[in-house]
Amino acid sequence: MTHEGPNRPARIVVIGAGIVGASLAYHLASKAAQVTVLEAGGIASGVTGTSFAWINTSCAGPDPIAALRGGAIAAWHQLETQVPGLTLRWHGALSYGTQDGRVSSSSIVLDGSGIAQLEPQLRRPPEQALYEPEQGALDAVAATHALLAAARVLGATVRTHTPVLGFAVRDAQVTGVETVASLIEADMVVLAAGTGTARLAAQLGVDLPIHASPAIFLRYQAPPGLVRAIISSHAMEVRQAEDGTMLAAEDYVDDAPHNQPAAIALRTASAIREELEGADFLRPELACIGLRPMPADGVPIIGSLPNIKGVYVCAMHPGVALAAIVGQLASGEIVTGEPAPALEACRPARFLAC
Ligand SMILES: Cc1cc2nc3c(=O)[nH]c(=O)nc-3n(C[C@H](O)[C@H](O)[C@H](O)COP(=O)(O)OP(=O)(O)OC[C@H]3O[C@@H](n4cnc5c(N)ncnc54)[C@H](O)[C@@H]3O)c2cc1C
Repeated sequence: MTHEGPNRPARIVVIGAGIVGASLAYHLASKAAQVTVLEAGGIASGVTGTSFAWINTSCAGPDPIAALRGGAIAAWHQLETQVPGLTLRWHGALSYGTQDGRVSSSSIVLDGSGIAQLEPQLRRPPEQALYEPEQGALDAVAATHALLAAARVLGATVRTHTPVLGFAVRDAQVTGVETVASLIEADMVVLAAGTGTARLAAQLGVDLPIHASPAIFLRYQAPPGLVRAIISSHAMEVRQAEDGTMLAAEDYVDDAPHNQPAAIALRTASAIREELEGADFLRPELACIGLRPMPADGVPIIGSLPNIKGVYVCAMHPGVALAAIVGQLASGEIVTGEPAPALEACRPARFLAC
């Protein structure tokens, strides 16, 4: 338990108002913690603002976080019933030709006619594809706002444009965080700062290998009704909102002029036009690079730092898919001190050799 007096709720500072910090703030506030969220920019101004936001729970090969992924969809369903204004679209995901061997427990193999029925605008439906009906997506920015609004209703404070500059430490225990204006005391500080997490941990003398992994985010205006599910194929990874807005994600290749986001937006638009009937009027609206917080071994980093008390880390990819379940489990650990078995593979200690 993190609070000192028997009647005083734990004072918890969450650094970062991306989808991970927002989910933590909501879950902590719902467990009666006194939560303050500090965000350097605006809400969802980090990589959450440029996320494809697929609740993708599939994994290729052995999965050290199978238990976490296995609970991810249910945790989002639960949040949907609790958080006003939080809407997810459970349209399923269709994958083919990607050959990365990803499967989930709900995978269904569809033949050509099943695929054509699901996605009638596909010009050349493949002979076979994997359909995962349980999967869905959300508007990551809107979801982050909804979670923080619900946290505020439960008493949380959210301060934007308030970067955390350092920590107050006494007897190997973090007792607060420093901002330009003040020192904010805390019983526990949660680092949910995305790619900024490693820098904050380094200030505490802890080296966490979290890389800023680039990916390309694309948004187009398109006629509604082109795509029903998420489509992930060798040619494109796309999904479409009800108003026609089409989102796509592409791999980052390099810094060459022909691989800049604007050039990739044009190439991807051509690919989408080739794949989908009726996509001739596809207008690029946004093309940018987002930096994903990628732990060196690909496994989320979640848990207390071993060498210093009062700090809990939450850095991961895929952060949107996992935000709900991680918020649920990590808030339980922080408030009760009881470890959650599903988080065992994620401990920061694995990187910190004695
Ligand atoms: C193109 C693209 C597609 C993606 N597709 C998917 C997908 O389909 N599914 C999925 O699950 N994930 C996807 N991701 C990854 C996903 O977006 C991230 O894993 C997730 O958004 C991470 O959220 P976060 O809250 O940890 O980080 P962020 O959103 O970056 O939030 C961290 C916040 O901390 C703040 N901060 C940093 N340092 C400080 C400081 N010192 N003081 C105060 N505040 C600080 C930052 O300003 C930032 O707002 C994709 C990413 C990209 C770029």
